Amino acid sequence: MRQDFFIVGGGVVGMAIAYGLARAGQGVTVLDADDTAFRASRGNAGLTWVQGKGVGMPSYAEMSLDSVQAWPSFALELQQRTGLELEYERRGGVDLCLDEEEAHARRTEYRELQAQSERLRRDFHWEYLDREQLLPFLPGLGKRVAGGTWSPHDGHCNPLYLLRALHAACRRLGVDIRQATPVENLARTESGFRATLREGHVEAERCIVAAGLGAKRLAPQLGLSDDVFPLRGQMLITERMPRVEQLPTPQIRQTATGGYLIGDTHERVGHDKGVTLPMLQTLADKAVRIFPFLRSTRLVRAWAALRVMTPDGYPLYERSMTHPGAYNVNCHSGITLAAFHADGLAQAILNDRIHTHFSQFSGARFHVPSTP
Ligand SMILES: Cc1cc2nc3c(=O)[nH]c(=O)nc-3n(C[C@H](O)[C@H](O)[C@H](O)COP(=O)(O)OP(=O)(O)OC[C@H]3O[C@@H](n4cnc5c(N)ncnc54)[C@H](O)[C@@H]3O)c2cc1C
Repeated sequence: MRQDFFIVGGGVVGMAIAYGLARAGQGVTVLDADDTAFRASRGNAGLTWVQGKGVGMPSYAEMSLDSVQAWPSFALELQQRTGLELEYERRGGVDLCLDEEEAHARRTEYRELQAQSERLRRDFHWEYLDREQLLPFLPGLGKRVAGGTWSPHDGHCNPLYLLRALHAACRRLGVDIRQATPVENLARTESGFRATLREGHVEAERCIVAAGLGAKRLAPQLGLSDDVFPLRGQMLITERMPRVEQLPTPQIRQTATGGYLIGDTHERVGHDKGVTLPMLQTLADKAVRIFPFLRSTRLVRAWAALRVMTPDGYPLYERSMTHPGAYNVNCHSGITLAAFHADGLAQAILNDRIHTHFSQFSGARFHVPSTP
């Protein structure tokens, strides 16, 4: 059966869009490669986070804010459709500052961001709290932490459960999800698009490249931007500990099952997704500085995953100018943005409005001719 859309990539970005399109009655096929592909959705920290987003591009901060505001109903809807738990919570979060210099830089950054947008001045709430003020939110916080920025918007989920729920919800909506189906090539046909597979091909009227780092090779085949590169993040998790009433931080958070998730690094090491002892040691030292009570806690697992990064760190949303009907969606923070991808972005793609509504996010921004 010929579909309205095929989507290349079954990570959290491709699946959130598939969900949004299927919910709107579209026929969708998702083509996903296998575990030999890079898959950020299976190795991330699970934060649904606004803090730190959009410094330099306030519209990205606004989009992140919209997405986290939509997250509670998005999570509830997914749970109701599938019966699956996401371990989602939004009780606020704290981005820690280890010293006064970092604290000063953070406050300056947020004030500058808010100076650029009326909406953010009104709706982005945050406050700097010193260590003493943070203690009720982060019991046991170490003395060698200066403080942190608190925001009520931030939250966290289990990112693997999110991915599982998106897959389940999509299946129920009739999405044809093909696992272990790498796309070799993409091309225009007379009436749509064709994805060539190892065996056979799939066709649809329109197509979306949501292949994470796989977009580097595939997107240019349809006149779309290839401006993505890998940025490694290493993570650690401890054994399960008694649950403590505390807020999540990007540096460390306790998961619903009790383990402390510690992360993450930002390393430009190409496509190497191995872990390294010096980086893991740095992460563990930082964790003990934040929560000294973790000193004798056992670490049970370490891993690394590659972020899907663009040159400025903001998302890439674009429609092909040479091949109308083909779209490219790539971003860091695909967990945070999942609610937006399933709703506003899927609607914009459906109505072919991505180039008007989100022109700022096109890959063309990386190719502005320099003035003589
Ligand atoms: C360490 C780390 C921590 C992070 N923490 C957070 C966080 O706390 N909050 C947050 O919002 N974001 C976080 N992120 C970012 C988030 O994980 C990503 O933005 C998101 O997972 C990207 O999803 P994706 O679907 O675009 O990419 P991926 O998950 O990489 O999926 C791409 C998919 O495309 C498929 N594919 C590739 N090539 C082909 C092909 N040729 N044919 C068919 N399929 C193909 C792959 O199989 C894969 O499933 C983190 C990332 C990392 C690495």
